[in-house]
Amino acid sequence: MIRAVVGANWGDEGKGKLTDVFAAESDIVVRFQGGNNAGHTIINEYGKFALHMLPSGVFYGHTVNIIGNGVALNIDALVKELNAIVEKGVPMPKILVSDRAQIVMSYHILFDKLEEERLGKAQFGSTKSGIAPFYSDKYAKIGFQISELFDEQWLSDKLERVLAQKNTLLVHLYNHQPLIKEDILAELIHYRSVIAPYVTDTFKYFQEAFDDNKRILLEGQLGALRDPDFGIYPYSTSSSTLALYGPIGAGLPRHIDETWAVTKAYSSCVGAGPFVSEIFDDTAHQLRIRGGDAGEYGATTGRPRRMGWFDAVATRYGCQVQGATHLVLTNLDVLGYLDKIPVCVAYETDGKRREHFPNITRLEHSVPILEYVDGWNCDISHIRNYDELPENCKKYVDRLEELVGVKIALVSNGPKREQIMTRK
Ligand code: GDP
Repeated sequence: MIRAVVGANWGDEGKGKLTDVFAAESDIVVRFQGGNNAGHTIINEYGKFALHMLPSGVFYGHTVNIIGNGVALNIDALVKELNAIVEKGVPMPKILVSDRAQIVMSYHILFDKLEEERLGKAQFGSTKSGIAPFYSDKYAKIGFQISELFDEQWLSDKLERVLAQKNTLLVHLYNHQPLIKEDILAELIHYRSVIAPYVTDTFKYFQEAFDDNKRILLEGQLGALRDPDFGIYPYSTSSSTLALYGPIGAGLPRHIDETWAVTKAYSSCVGAGPFVSEIFDDTAHQLRIRGGDAGEYGATTGRPRRMGWFDAVATRYGCQVQGATHLVLTNLDVLGYLDKIPVCVAYETDGKRREHFPNITRLEHSVPILEYVDGWNCDISHIRNYDELPENCKKYVDRLEELVGVKIALVSNGPKREQIMTRK
């Protein structure tokens, strides 16, 4: 059985919490794309964690946690995170790393920084973790796959080819000193020694796991609107954030049984790009300070998140591109302070009402058409049974479901594991 947890929006929807909850009933949790450029916040009996590289199943003794071939693997970040959770009392988790995953090199991070500096005001708001240069190299066939680390002659020959290209750009485009072959070779050999204990042919592992009816959880990073094909390109990320890429990036080419898309009861977004239902100033501040578990600040960057009202146009589209079979609504507790809750039900672009999410150029000059739903004006974070929610709160959830067109199966009313309710 394969289940995917993915974002319906721009990321930060609360996927980490849901993955942590679902991991309890999973045998294997797999990261299939992205790198340490985003993070999941998880609060459980061990404390509060921001995971960037590790799969969210690491808190359970019974799960195997896999870094799939589609991931941008920052080896030092992985080890640092692993040590940090173990230091906080989490038992050493079982981790496997695909021998087909590729490595984020120190020069990917350097290129990311240099390019954002070169772009100046026109920059894309990169987290500067090297992700775009990494995926560019992967598809330009000058990346390093884990399996290559074990053949030194191969590495040395390939480095000649890679550095010829890198150093031309460094010197002539960025005015930077060139990379030295011995340094990069030493970096690769360091990675080999650190990662060797975890390296596995995970493709083969999955063939057997699938035949053994293991329960497999695919853990997505970011959200549908950051996908390079269906998202808000070029304000997108560099790997597919879609559930259907999950089996490829995981190394498990099989049918997904359940796709759980996650969305917040309002909108938030880190990074640049059009965000139609965005709110500003004090209205945004009021929502931001109440949001998440400690306000809406990015788990990786610490940047204040951009805030907005629930965007039914973006979320409906996000669920469609995810092929969502179930929807999870998080952070419903946060809206308890509002008398009237605005919801973006359509866009207006150049005088025309639109219900379908438009392409980037139209998106740039779309404005929200809002509807106002009655608030419930109280704290709901202690409630554990969906039926006990205030009537207006349930009406809000019903309205969102009607607008999005996917069954809202779970509602989350706080950051903790137990703050989640089944909606029949
Ligand atoms: P992810 O990347 O999709 O996992 O999302 P993040 O972890 O970056 O952001 C979600 C934030 O919301 C985190 O701070 C979570 O602890 C918090 N969170 C998750 N679910 C809820 C909820 O239902 N209510 C509240 N108040 N916070 C939540």
